Amino acid sequence: MAGVTYSYSAPVSQTLFDRAAAVTPGGVNSPVRAFRAVGGTPRFMVSGSGPYLTDADGREYVDLVCSWGPMILGHAHPEVTAAVQEAVARGTSFGTPGEGEVALAEEIVARVAPVEQVRLVSSGTEATMSAIRLARGFTGRSKVIKFAGCYHGHVDALLAAAGSGLATFALPDTPGVTGAQAGDTIVLPYNDLDAVRAAFAAHPGEIACVITEAAAGNMGVVAPLPGFNQGLADLCSDNGALYISDEVMTGFRVSRAGWYGLDGVRPDLMTFGKVMGGGFPAAAFGGRADVMAHLAPTGPVYQAGTLSGNPVATAAGIAQLRLLDDAAYGRVDAVSAEVRSLVSGALDKAGVAHRVSAAGSMFSVFFTDQEVRDYESAKAQESFRFTAFFHSMLAQGVYLPPSSFESWFLSTAHDDAAVQRIADALPGAARAAAEATE
Ligand code: PLP
Repeated sequence: MAGVTYSYSAPVSQTLFDRAAAVTPGGVNSPVRAFRAVGGTPRFMVSGSGPYLTDADGREYVDLVCSWGPMILGHAHPEVTAAVQEAVARGTSFGTPGEGEVALAEEIVARVAPVEQVRLVSSGTEATMSAIRLARGFTGRSKVIKFAGCYHGHVDALLAAAGSGLATFALPDTPGVTGAQAGDTIVLPYNDLDAVRAAFAAHPGEIACVITEAAAGNMGVVAPLPGFNQGLADLCSDNGALYISDEVMTGFRVSRAGWYGLDGVRPDLMTFGKVMGGGFPAAAFGGRADVMAHLAPTGPVYQAGTLSGNPVATAAGIAQLRLLDDAAYGRVDAVSAEVRSLVSGALDKAGVAHRVSAAGSMFSVFFTDQEVRDYESAKAQESFRFTAFFHSMLAQGVYLPPSSFESWFLSTAHDDAAVQRIADALPGAARAAAEATE
């Protein structure tokens, strides 16, 4: 951040970042990695083991990003690594059907009741893009309702008032998305059912679907208010639209069946990514069999992918999901609760106004004394305090998401030693947050 200097350095990461910036825009392949919201040198990681990451300068960090969600068993879990090695040795891509993709689809269908049929893709963006196309093809309608601060990947039609990197950079929209592409998108405030009711009334017979994050994690974590998701499902069903629950972040993370496993609200279509790929590019969309039957080759809605259902990615995903039993989720829930309480305790002690906002085991810290229930209230936080907090934690060997609009993630590998390191770092970080000025 301009004018701020940090009392520690990462010379090897800095050299790599300079090299990267010469050949890649901003030196990164996904914007939030660039540390623009917090300033300083992005850490180039060279290895991960359990709850720890090691950077190119040889410094070790407790990782509270977990690759933005996927690494729920920690890094380099031996059973996932073995499954991957075994799959690689058999060949890395065939462009034909294979048993691994069937097994992964069966695992998803067995866990998430509303998913009767599922199609595998390679990224969460592809999953939401394809689900929207399918909803439009199925209903014969064009308009899509999304919520401000919800991010569904960089799908043209969904980049209106999105969270994640766009929240970090305060971009309301992005050049390159045409009026025609965004024109059918209706953006409404999150957690506001009256606004959804009014939109259906204003556009009778025109709305193909409502897409929402099952629990918002891209404006920071903001859980749906009681009744919000059910209200969306009911309004969709009353108006002939499809309800799409985006579980790319929550899916297989907050329970065996993701957010659906916690609130039981039945969507027509769902999207998945992150955890189901075990650290590889695998994602999916699925739901009602009669809707999915509209996809090629059984139906007219086209969707395809050279690497969809890739044998290495599916091997990693199956290995990870099979290890994720109720005990594993219990462990992640418990360690998340412990870290939340430590963070809150340290900030209280330092007199820093904050809200720790959770959805299952996902959470983030808003530097505000106001309730956060939507994008407007999320943006009202004092992000400059997060910057100071982040850099203090980083200097003490704890790697947080480099933005106050992102979820923190834990894993089954975060043991007492890792939690102790977080606990030791918090008082100094809380003091830094208290002393921060805009
Ligand atoms: N949907 C949600 C809720 C997400 O959090 C993300 C990514 O963070 C996506 C979709 C896009 O997934 P991907 O980055 O794999 O394209």
